[in-house]
Amino acid sequence: MTDKPPRSLVRFLGAARTVTGSKFLVETPTARVLVDCGLFQGHKRLREMNWAEFPIDPSSIDAVVVSHAHLDHVGYLPALVRNGFSGNVWASESTGRLAGVVMADSGRIQEHDAERANRKGYSRHEPALPLYTEHDAVVASALFRVAPWMRQTRIADGVTLRLTRAGHILGSASILLEFEDGTAPVHLSGDLGRPGHPVLDPPDPPPSAGTVIMESTYGDTEHVDEDGTRELGEVISRTADRGGAVVIPAFAVDRTEVILVALRKLIESGVIPRMPVYLDSPMARSALGFYVRAVAEGEHEIRDSIVGRPDVFDPGDLRITESVEDSKAINLAKPPFIVISASGMATGGRVLHHLKRMLPDSKSTVVLVGYQAAGTRGRRLLNGEDRIKIHGEFWPVRAEIASVPAFSVHADRSELVDWLASAETPPEQVIAVHGDPEAMDSFREAVADRLSRNILTPGHGETILL
Ligand SMILES: [Zn+2]
Repeated sequence: MTDKPPRSLVRFLGAARTVTGSKFLVETPTARVLVDCGLFQGHKRLREMNWAEFPIDPSSIDAVVVSHAHLDHVGYLPALVRNGFSGNVWASESTGRLAGVVMADSGRIQEHDAERANRKGYSRHEPALPLYTEHDAVVASALFRVAPWMRQTRIADGVTLRLTRAGHILGSASILLEFEDGTAPVHLSGDLGRPGHPVLDPPDPPPSAGTVIMESTYGDTEHVDEDGTRELGEVISRTADRGGAVVIPAFAVDRTEVILVALRKLIESGVIPRMPVYLDSPMARSALGFYVRAVAEGEHEIRDSIVGRPDVFDPGDLRITESVEDSKAINLAKPPFIVISASGMATGGRVLHHLKRMLPDSKSTVVLVGYQAAGTRGRRLLNGEDRIKIHGEFWPVRAEIASVPAFSVHADRSELVDWLASAETPPEQVIAVHGDPEAMDSFREAVADRLSRNILTPGHGETILL
């Protein structure tokens, strides 16, 4: 056991001056709670951090709370469990369901990539090993417990949890921790969605807290178009006109659903012709099932206007692939058609096979719809690189590369400041995390300008008293 501190504090073990690997360790004199347990993604330097020894003994953590089911918030959990954590993992019901699928998929991809690297001999490590396996993910899933929305749940000695809506993906929550020893509450935003999300209610305002720890992914960006549907329509129209196909690397959870809603609108209103829309990602297929169920049943975070209307996700000619053979058969389809496939930053998954086919084709288009972390293939495409390495080989980029950043799953600078300003009472300290240094600096200026207050931007491994 590691000693607990005399005063409550938070340690930043990930997503500190970077956007991935979210891990915030809240330590009190009586308990140790880890909020989020994400994977580092992007640059090799970051990915290698996943292999470093965890800074404390995982078995000394009393509970984990997960804000939402994205890999950079939940993807390290199977490794934490394998290395000794055995407490409860608290999350909303939908987050628990989605996390099971996301973690298992991650374990499968890691096993597959390690196996492939060994077979093809392109790993610098001998032999290449997965960070964790699908089996590790299944073991971690069994530790999930449902935390109800808006109600206090005691999760560790002297610590209670309350979830509010974050409007980012299905199940996504902001996390309020309250302490029986009189320490002022801490509120962690998790990732915050945009108020105009077509399926989810907007983020709830922050409850009263001494400390707010908030994301700042787009702290330097103002999204232009309200929802990106018009831009997406233009890109698809011109690709169809020249006889090309469209591939959309999309985060399997939520971006897929938002794009399907947009495609239905575009086809219904005649902006683009009706064409086959392939959903080619086993994880996206599972996630869509959870969204359909949540909309049909009217879960807490679903917009009233679409409760009971799961058809919003059907663009007319939706073809959901099951087997690898179905996926390969898409290669034989005649354009125009659209393929939505994971992963969203083209770091792995079936989308790589579609990119290998589409990138060299000048008639086709790759549409980037989400955040592309530095060092990922998605970011390289966004930067206009003329060849991209996939599976150890370079592929020429002749396809159109289009970006529709308005489809972002994250609030922009104004929306972040609005959220902070809507707090019931202003917090004593505000800490920004989950942003690149430039985004955080710009966000800090915006908060200073509009709210006349300073925010802290701790680096990796730093500690701040609560
Ligand atoms: Zn997220």
